[in-house]
Amino acid sequence: MTKTLNVRSRSKTELIDITEDIRRIIAEEGIKDGLCFIYVPHTTAGITINEGADPAVKRDILVALSKLVPFEGDYQHLEGNSAAHIKATLVGTSHCILIEEGKPLLGTWQSIYFCEFDGPRHRRVLVKTISS
Ligand code: ZN
Repeated sequence: MTKTLNVRSRSKTELIDITEDIRRIIAEEGIKDGLCFIYVPHTTAGITINEGADPAVKRDILVALSKLVPFEGDYQHLEGNSAAHIKATLVGTSHCILIEEGKPLLGTWQSIYFCEFDGPRHRRVLVKTISS
């Protein structure tokens, strides 16, 4: 069964740590070894895995993405949020994580982030676990 994680962003752009939510879902599903597929069903949000120890990394990622893809630009999309669409495409909308011994196989410093690029909004993250 696919589980839905509800995420509430509070800023225009924001990285929200969902690592503990993913750990909880894997534990609830009782998966010991397998895969965890995480999917964001939105066009202006994404998912990434990166450092969770120093909060400055989240900030630096957002600042660098905004330099790469400025909010104002030569865009034709009438909704006026092309930068958010482009950032979502750059970051991607899914990740697949290995599960071993009932836990996501993440590196010591890795966290899983929901990436908001057009907030604040209520968002959904879909999570599917598969036992191997
Ligand atoms: Zn749009």
